[in-house]
Amino acid sequence: MSDASRATSPLPDGGSAASSAPVHASPPEDSSFDALWARARKVLPGGVNSPVRSFRSVGGRPFFVDRGEGPYLIDTEGKRYIDYIMSWGPLVMGHAHPLLVEALEAQLTRGTSYGAPTAAEVEMAERLVHLVPSLDMVRLVNSGTEATMSALRVARGFTGRDRFLKFTGCYHGHADPFLVAAGSGVATLGLPNSPGVPEPVARDTVVLPFNDADQVRDLFRREGDTIAAIFLEPVMGNAGLILPEPGYLEALREITEAHGTLLVFDEVMTGFRVGLGGAQERFGVTPDLTTLGKVIGAGLPVGAFGGRREIMEQVAPAGPIYQAGTLSGNPLATAAGNAQLAWLEANDPFPALETYARRLVDGLLQALGDAGIPASGGVAGSMFGVFFHPGPVRSFEDAKAADIERFNRFHRAMLERGVFLAPSAFEAGFLSIRHGEAELEATLAAARAAAEEVAG
Ligand SMILES: *Cc1c(COP(=O)(O)O)cnc(C)c1O
Repeated sequence: MSDASRATSPLPDGGSAASSAPVHASPPEDSSFDALWARARKVLPGGVNSPVRSFRSVGGRPFFVDRGEGPYLIDTEGKRYIDYIMSWGPLVMGHAHPLLVEALEAQLTRGTSYGAPTAAEVEMAERLVHLVPSLDMVRLVNSGTEATMSALRVARGFTGRDRFLKFTGCYHGHADPFLVAAGSGVATLGLPNSPGVPEPVARDTVVLPFNDADQVRDLFRREGDTIAAIFLEPVMGNAGLILPEPGYLEALREITEAHGTLLVFDEVMTGFRVGLGGAQERFGVTPDLTTLGKVIGAGLPVGAFGGRREIMEQVAPAGPIYQAGTLSGNPLATAAGNAQLAWLEANDPFPALETYARRLVDGLLQALGDAGIPASGGVAGSMFGVFFHPGPVRSFEDAKAADIERFNRFHRAMLERGVFLAPSAFEAGFLSIRHGEAELEATLAAARAAAEEVAG
């Protein structure tokens, strides 16, 4: 603090932090689960800030995180878990990776938000445009929910149509029009819809089962010219992991093209998870618009939507479709995002992660099979999924026939043994580059014991 600014500051200490005694010294807190959970439930609905964190669907008790280290989470009671959630996707480099810590530290002392353009935003947009085939331009936002709701507005504004098609069990964030037959926590809690979503809003959302191109063709033959967009997770990850069948994405591309409908890939989860260029590169089908989130922010709040130039030029201030955000393009988020994306581009870890995922799923299926528990599973890059269902699982309708009760017991048995799987039968698993041989072995040993425990 210079003498000049000290002299003009309205604050008695010149705004300096030098005299910073703690504002209030708290007594040491009880960090046991029971104490924290009791406090949490008084002031947070269900004790959490996002429903799946409550473990309500698996019937277990959650834990409070003290810190993350590589592939591990450590809770406030000192218990260590191998983490297969990785913050629900973002942490493909694991917890607190030194490169990301360094990037964040370098930004932190230069300010946390400016509300004015930065070079880092331009760099991040260039990285995304370079790596993801469908992107000519992007807009950065603060979450996946914002990305999808904004992409829907753009699709509607561009086509002049209100209705759109989504698929059962696909989750596109919690904005009103998408909370119809949605996956993730919505599926888990058995809420086909949510109170508070106005019926006229839900009415413009058309829903069909995933992986059935004939039903889409029938719909479009009758009403295609009223439909602004098809939204989908090109690999479903919010109903467990469900891959598109060969030809399905191509069929959607062909149908939408024939009807002036936009094809929107929600790659909030699959972007930089199933491969460097997302599902669109992996399957060779290029959508008109793409939404991103999760990995592109490396654990900081971020999202993005983008696509063809003629569509994105309609977004304000280039065009008339309004979209804005106080914290959009946030310098901490872009610092972490750029560092993670740069590392991923330089190292392309996805083939190795997929090999690891395959070994993990094969091992889990072996353990379950040996215990006489019917199960099936799959992998896509650094994502994996196991259903307590003999398979094949092609849609959410199939997934719902899985043995949920047994999965829930298995989840608790794995958690007891220090393995943190997603607390729902309808969620995928996520790996990081920090998961190694020791974690694989420990996980499969736990799985053999847990499978024995829940068999019969
Ligand atoms: C997580 C997710 C979203 C929502 O992103 P938030 O950052 O949680 O708002 C949207 N779409 C898909 C496919 C997701 O997995």
